[in-house]
Amino acid sequence: MRPALLLPLVTAGCFGVPTPLAPSVDGSVGVPHAGVLRGAEELPARGPGFVRLRPKSPNYWGNPRLVEGIRAAAGAVAQALPGGAPLVVGDISARRGGKIPGHRSHRTGRDVDLLFYVTTPSGAPVPSPGFVKFGTDGLAQVKDELHLRLDVERNWVLVRELVSSREAQVQWLFASRGVEALLIDYARARGEPPDVIWRAETMLLEPGDSSPHDDHIHVRFACSADEEVAGCEGGGPRWEWLVSHPPLPELDARALGEIASEDPFGLEAAFSVAPAPGGDG
Ligand SMILES: [Zn+2]
Repeated sequence: MRPALLLPLVTAGCFGVPTPLAPSVDGSVGVPHAGVLRGAEELPARGPGFVRLRPKSPNYWGNPRLVEGIRAAAGAVAQALPGGAPLVVGDISARRGGKIPGHRSHRTGRDVDLLFYVTTPSGAPVPSPGFVKFGTDGLAQVKDELHLRLDVERNWVLVRELVSSREAQVQWLFASRGVEALLIDYARARGEPPDVIWRAETMLLEPGDSSPHDDHIHVRFACSADEEVAGCEGGGPRWEWLVSHPPLPELDARALGEIASEDPFGLEAAFSVAPAPGGDG
């Protein structure tokens, strides 16, 4: 214990007391590989369309937005393609965050590992047996004679739901290039909306500094604007399709003149003539 080092902390005020200069931290705090978690929600052992890989594990706590995002996406897959096996969900975070075995990130309740939907070689859906590595042909060898096929159809619907949800606010989907190519090719062939394919292509990323993620998708949820104020550190892009603020009209000279005038009678007119950037309706 070195009391001299404590002095600045003590004089700075009590921890946990919100002040205008130091609002109380809450939710996902810090960055995914060095942070903690407050106010976490636990993913139940099973629910409509999903099941936990490790039912008794203590590491199924997450930011409530992540937990709801998983439930919504898994539910949507089960509804769109009934009769399949549930989504098998791997680790999220410990109840209060911090380091958990086997992961560098997963410390702030914003990361979750999702196992792939799989089928038999002839296309019958079966529950994922765990972390199974898929090649670029979409096949995996589990035992000497047993092969599994990547259920491209269900995995695409899962990705589509995750990248499309404004509530969930997903930031990244870490998966191998081989898996990404299979999913994107399928989406194109199916005639999915180009903007959804663009989002998926943008957010699917093969990690450069760890395993190539050919046996699961690691989903990272973004910090919301509120959470950033409360201590969540994003480290990465905020995709334009996640921003929920209404688009502002262009502030041209006329609009600025109206704002600056004492009696802004023509303000509404000034705004209505300015085109909204990127606005198509
Ligand atoms: Zn992971």
